[in-house]
Amino acid sequence: MASQLGVTTIEHCEAREDPETPTRRAFIARMGALLGGSLAMHSAGARAPAGQEASVGRKIDYPTDLRITKITEVDIVGDRPKMIGKNAVRDDHGQRCREHLVRLYTNDGHHGFGVGRPKEDTLRALVGKNPFDFFEPAVGIRDAAGTSGVKEVEFALWDLIGRVLEKPVYQLIADPGSAAAPGTPVRAYDGSLYFADILYPEKGVARIEEEAAESVRLGFRAIKAKIGRGNKWMDPEEGFARDVAVLKAVRRVIGRDALLLIDANNGYDRAGAMRLLDAVGDVDIYFAEEMFPEDVPECLEFKRFMRERGWRTKLADGEGLRTAEDFRPYLETEAFDVVQGDMRRFGFTEYKRLSRLAAEHNAVCAPHNWGSQFGAFAGVQLAGGIPNFLFVEVDPVVFDVYVMDALQFKDGAFLLPDAPGLGVQLDEAVYQQKYEPKQSVYE
Ligand SMILES: [Mg+2]
Repeated sequence: MASQLGVTTIEHCEAREDPETPTRRAFIARMGALLGGSLAMHSAGARAPAGQEASVGRKIDYPTDLRITKITEVDIVGDRPKMIGKNAVRDDHGQRCREHLVRLYTNDGHHGFGVGRPKEDTLRALVGKNPFDFFEPAVGIRDAAGTSGVKEVEFALWDLIGRVLEKPVYQLIADPGSAAAPGTPVRAYDGSLYFADILYPEKGVARIEEEAAESVRLGFRAIKAKIGRGNKWMDPEEGFARDVAVLKAVRRVIGRDALLLIDANNGYDRAGAMRLLDAVGDVDIYFAEEMFPEDVPECLEFKRFMRERGWRTKLADGEGLRTAEDFRPYLETEAFDVVQGDMRRFGFTEYKRLSRLAAEHNAVCAPHNWGSQFGAFAGVQLAGGIPNFLFVEVDPVVFDVYVMDALQFKDGAFLLPDAPGLGVQLDEAVYQQKYEPKQSVYE
């Protein structure tokens, strides 16, 4: 903490470290190292409430004369180790992703970063401000006098504030006494089983089997298969039969102990979704996502059908919704079991609200995350800060500008890092070479 600067105090909480933090092992120096030439990737996971000591409300000191002195923004590019094909509604997703990286620098030498798409006016207004002006511990990041649109910079602000306070972001997200302990496993699932059978017709379902096997080899214990081929890309009956064949094949490959998730991108209607589940029989689906466009009576009917069959399959939905309040009608009726607000769109602040609302109605959070590597490590932080987190979704994309030394992956889960901020660094050599020439600077 920048003690040479003036200091003031705000109420916050402190989580104490679990003395039994699991032994760290050098799983990867960075995500890219894992990938060399294979299909690959990694991931993360769920939350383990066990083991942490009660945290206590306490005063936190922060420097009153801390100032943001410089901001940069630039598009960064990441590559996937395999081609991602179609889903029920969208054509091939390809192998390259783009994110927009914002970096904040302060007068005392701290630095934080995050992704977002802030307006230029917001960035200009942030220069000269104290980052703590935008931080309210019980709420999160908010606009302050004379500055709007700060939500698009919230990840960078959380990271910066965490680094200034020398605390992981999840300890700042958590309500007093509720942060998970460093080392807690956060379960992850591989979200990359798209329609590879259509992408590689010469291999067909065998290609999906290969990808599922690779996922298991990488350590995943949960995997999500896209379905809904008959919605747009195949004859409806042939597409239906292919979906059934794929789900049976994936279950065979991953074994009985791994979790199988499905996502139809609303490519079925309720009758079709029920028919599909009957057709795959005992394949054991952990959650069914966006089987049909969300609608309270339809969701409840679908859940009733599943319970009648004796299946515990959870209904997951809501990646298209924009705010926590948008989820209210589905949560109050218990139409959704798993809420999937998008990690980057929601940010930690809105996710805290969604998490609370979901918890009141027995639902858990599994943020949608696609086209982003950042969204996965943001998900890990969120997991440590809320009580009802289920899964991090992993897109295999790798951005070589991220250095992930502090974020380890073990037995299908990320281990909550104890590094300050988001627990991820930037590779300054890569940044300098690829991005600095293109960045916009505000100071
Ligand atoms: Mg989805």
